[in-house]
Amino acid sequence: MTSSSTSSSRPATRRSVHGVPTKCWCGKGLLIWASETKENPYRRFYRCEVALQRKSESHLFKWEDEALLDEVRLVDAKVMDLVHDYQALSKIVLDKLDEQKVDCQSKLNQHISEMKQQMLEAKSQMKEEFQANLASYMEATQIRETSPTNNFVAAFAIVGAIACIYWKLV
Ligand SMILES: [Zn+2]
Repeated sequence: MTSSSTSSSRPATRRSVHGVPTKCWCGKGLLIWASETKENPYRRFYRCEVALQRKSESHLFKWEDEALLDEVRLVDAKVMDLVHDYQALSKIVLDKLDEQKVDCQSKLNQHISEMKQQMLEAKSQMKEEFQANLASYMEATQIRETSPTNNFVAAFAIVGAIACIYWKLV
């Protein structure tokens, strides 16, 4: 039955693992060993816990220092992503604030312009009414030349004319 045992074993596919591995791709846990070779004395590495019993199969092996270096690079990349996200977000917020500022300024200018227009219209209307009143008083003065209130109306007309001149100056 050697053929059945060969067929049941997994095909040897080595996969790259980023960062610090937590388990082997076969699903088993990992052990940390120290190398005893001349090339890498005492260098620590991760090894699948069943790798020793299943030497013919491919199980996870990774140097601990390389795994830690990978981890640092991953963290660096995440930090850079966060920095880019923050920059993009702050640009969006600043652009929005600028848009709102311009919008507010434009609305404010429009309100000021409308108020100016209304004030001008009101001023012009008051001026017309005043001139109409003055004209009617002048007319009344001419009609009732012999009226006892003649002097009073004339005085009122003079005061009105002075007020009108003052209004124009202001
Ligand atoms: Zn394994």
